[in-house]
Amino acid sequence: MSETIFTKIINKQIPADILFEDDRVLAFKDISPQAPVHFLVIPKKPIATTNDIQAEDEAVVGYMHRIAARIAAELGVAGDGFRTVMNCNAHGGQTVYHIHLHVLAGKPLGWPPYQERLKE
Ligand code: AMP
Repeated sequence: MSETIFTKIINKQIPADILFEDDRVLAFKDISPQAPVHFLVIPKKPIATTNDIQAEDEAVVGYMHRIAARIAAELGVAGDGFRTVMNCNAHGGQTVYHIHLHVLAGKPLGWPPYQERLKE
């Protein structure tokens, strides 16, 4: 897999607003936030897309979600709620080919079923 900008962030070759780091994952604010709170959780292991997640990666992918929830709680948005998104390949809108969990929060987020429910 060719190196992405996220490898450079992991290696501290370029700066990021880091929220959490340990030996397995890194979490940092998205440079182009799509909600009042928008951060990314990435594995330190470079996995290109969701299609490339192997059985041996299952633990770190689950851990990414636990870290997402922990940071959301620290930022005070866990109770109101948040959205996690992992885009895959072109049709999914993926632009950086190192898997990352988007965590979006801080306001009610648009979603068709939610909008429909509001109309009922
Ligand atoms: P995706 O389109 O799902 O691959 O998401 C890639 C995300 O990475 C986008 O939301 C970008 O705004 C974000 N991003 C790209 N470069 C950086 C960077 N240097 N620091 C923080 N976030 C970044």
